[in-house]
Amino acid sequence: MKNLKNALLLKQLYQLKQLGYKYTSVTPFQEEEPDLTLPNTLESLKKQAIECHLCDLSKSRQKVVFGEGAVNADLMFLGDMPNNSDDSSGKVFTGRSGDTLTKMIENVLGVSRSDVYITNILKCRAHDTLNPSPAHAHTCHPYLLKQIELIKPKIIIALGETAYHYLTGDNSDISNVRGTLHKQDGYTIVPTYHPNYLLRNPSAKKYVFDDLKNIKELM
Ligand code: SF4
Repeated sequence: MKNLKNALLLKQLYQLKQLGYKYTSVTPFQEEEPDLTLPNTLESLKKQAIECHLCDLSKSRQKVVFGEGAVNADLMFLGDMPNNSDDSSGKVFTGRSGDTLTKMIENVLGVSRSDVYITNILKCRAHDTLNPSPAHAHTCHPYLLKQIELIKPKIIIALGETAYHYLTGDNSDISNVRGTLHKQDGYTIVPTYHPNYLLRNPSAKKYVFDDLKNIKELM
């Protein structure tokens, strides 16, 4: 509840910033307060996200892409935001990027894609941008935190710099941190390249292969 309240407050502050405010000491808008309780089951959380209008991406999305996979997965893969085909299907990591991720999971880690959990920092597609804005990412963050709390993954593989940044707060270049281990809140974060990057730079596959081999040993 506290996280959603913070997200709502952040949304208001970003709106004020866009209006030109630099400082404010009061809560500026008296919005009707929505139900800020996040449910304690994944299914109910998904239902709440599907009806979410906390940020303006709810106006341009076709479908909310909540995430999918095993509810008690030891491994969670975290991308940045849904692509166009995810947006129209409501499914996570579809298309060529999704095929590449499936190969990473099944061919290198040797587990079925349905045995891991896959989601994104943003649950709605942000059009006309390559990266989620801080306002959108922070507003959506409570859903990710609750997913992590409910699934309790042992390892979270952050796919790309954006996912790694919004999960850890670290702005490091992905090429400097990929393959390194970061302990946070009872789980281990391992950053590696995003499948989209591998589609553009096939020569980087060898690095992802090494990172996944290390993750396999950790498992
Ligand atoms: S991106 Fe997240 S916070 Fe924004 S509308 Fe979608 S689910 Fe809600």
